[in-house]
Amino acid sequence: MSLDDCINNSPNTTTWPGEFSGRNLTLHMMNQFFDLSSFAMPFLESEERSPGSSQAGSNSPSPAGSLTNIDNNRRYTFPSNIAKPGKRRWHSGPAPATSTGQQSPSSGKLLYSTTQSRSVVGSPSSTGSHSYVSGLQQLRLQDYNKEPERRLPRRVLVRQFSDQGESASVPFHPKKRLEPLRVRSYSESYVKKKEEEDMTFVRFMKNHKCYEIIPTSSKLVVFDAELLVKKAFYALVYNGVRAAPLWDSSKQDFVGMLTITDFINILQYYYKSPLVKMDELEEHKIATWREVLKEKARPLVWINPDQSLFEAVKMLIQQKIHRLPVIDNATGNVIYILTHKRILKFLALLQKTEIKSPSFLKKTLKELNIGTYTNIATARPDTPLITALNMFINKRVSALPIVDENNKIVDIYAKFDVINLAAEKTYNNLDITIQQALQFRQTYFEGVSTCKASETLETIMERIIKAGVHRLVVTDDEKHVIGVISLSDILNSLVLKPAGVPSRKSSSSSSTQGSPRV
Ligand code: ADP
Ligand code: ADP
Ligand code: AMP
Repeated sequence: MSLDDCINNSPNTTTWPGEFSGRNLTLHMMNQFFDLSSFAMPFLESEERSPGSSQAGSNSPSPAGSLTNIDNNRRYTFPSNIAKPGKRRWHSGPAPATSTGQQSPSSGKLLYSTTQSRSVVGSPSSTGSHSYVSGLQQLRLQDYNKEPERRLPRRVLVRQFSDQGESASVPFHPKKRLEPLRVRSYSESYVKKKEEEDMTFVRFMKNHKCYEIIPTSSKLVVFDAELLVKKAFYALVYNGVRAAPLWDSSKQDFVGMLTITDFINILQYYYKSPLVKMDELEEHKIATWREVLKEKARPLVWINPDQSLFEAVKMLIQQKIHRLPVIDNATGNVIYILTHKRILKFLALLQKTEIKSPSFLKKTLKELNIGTYTNIATARPDTPLITALNMFINKRVSALPIVDENNKIVDIYAKFDVINLAAEKTYNNLDITIQQALQFRQTYFEGVSTCKASETLETIMERIIKAGVHRLVVTDDEKHVIGVISLSDILNSLVLKPAGVPSRKSSSSSSTQGSPRV
């Protein structure tokens, strides 16, 4: 039976049980799957918009607000009180006039200056009215005579950053010798600045909400759990999507996701040989399969649009998933499926305008040690496909670099490519080689996107975004495979690590959900 037959001969009528955009939808499914692409999502914007620009719709908070936050945040990131060479501030007490016995005119006021030398503004040389330096602290002479009660806390008066870490000059005091005050050394301020820099992407992710990343229109396919497994995978191919949330009409809830990894799980579980037909794949409903493979059937992990991208990254990485549905709290509908790719693309779009590029982006992969460099799972062109599928599941990797006999990169086989078996109806023979399987690749293949450990993180981020792939293969100068750097490695090191969040979920926090759903 062809894909078209499979779709067109379906007699079932399925009811969409929830609400979408405030309407009850009953979809008479010719195709046994839900294609919601034609339904408008009125409060979403164009994918190509400048993210953060205003969004229509009353229930989405104004992104302008969040931009303002970012702005404030940025100011906080690079505090102005970090001393720059040549711009030292002197707060060394009153002017030398007192020490020389000369005082400023009776009506005069001693003003501290911010210039390099201590000076008296409004000294006898000043004629007429006194000059006031706006924003500077004023100390009247009589107050001064009543020392030690200064108007400013002493720490503020003497705060001075020394570029070389040398001790700061001690404020003048007529009566007693002050103990030297602790001054932040260059190295301390440097460390502080570095810590602030390390947090750049953490702040960015915390300041942006999931709704900001959702495009105006995108295709969303939802499967009823009663749908046949086989048809579900055809439907993924037919709709050109990589995953679908599962709706259980008896529970009136989303109960999980169906991804290409599940297709691989099913093939791996039921495949015996090319001669034995996988009846289970033909007959099982999604719900039946989730019963059989209970330990693989996970409850839905989801997020709501008002949660931050930081939360989204945390869920994607800690839960080791690649698809995170965004569920609107008000309606209970899935409105988008977030991925690492989408988050990194959003970051790249706003990075130039919102973020002062942190210096660690100029460091090399080797210096930063991002990616995996041991136990790299690779395969050869003649490796049987079933072996590759076993590696995907057992080693929990999302792609296998394909290498020649010298471990030089020649191709790549990703989980995504497995869905072509459904498209081509070739899943009954998994004894074919990877090379044969790769002939079913639907898209034009421009060669494997690689990088070197000597390249900077910045270059790598640009390349991975441009290539639109989930990982780059790290090679040496002779194209030998030495590692893999995936989007989860990058997001983990940019966002979770600096925030001190472990990439593994602790066993105590068992919640899989973003927040209570209606
Ligand atoms: P893929 O990389 O093939 O898209 P994932 O790595 O996201 O797949 O999925 C791994 C496993 O986790 C699959 O069994 C899938 O059904 C499940 N899964 C993926 N996303 C979610 C989610 N948001 N909630 C619950 N389970 C999920
Ligand atoms: P997903 O979007 O589901 O994460 P992938 O990026 O893993 O999908 O794979 C999408 C397609 O890109 C697949 O056909 C895969 O073979 C190909 N691909 C994946 N990684 C690379 C790479 N580093 N270089 C070239 N092609 C790649
Ligand atoms: P991913 O599933 O691609 O997001 O990656 C999860 C982790 O597995 C990351 O730390 C990757 O570096 C690592 N990884 C991905 N592919 C491979 C591979 N073929 N061999 C070893 N590690 C890999």
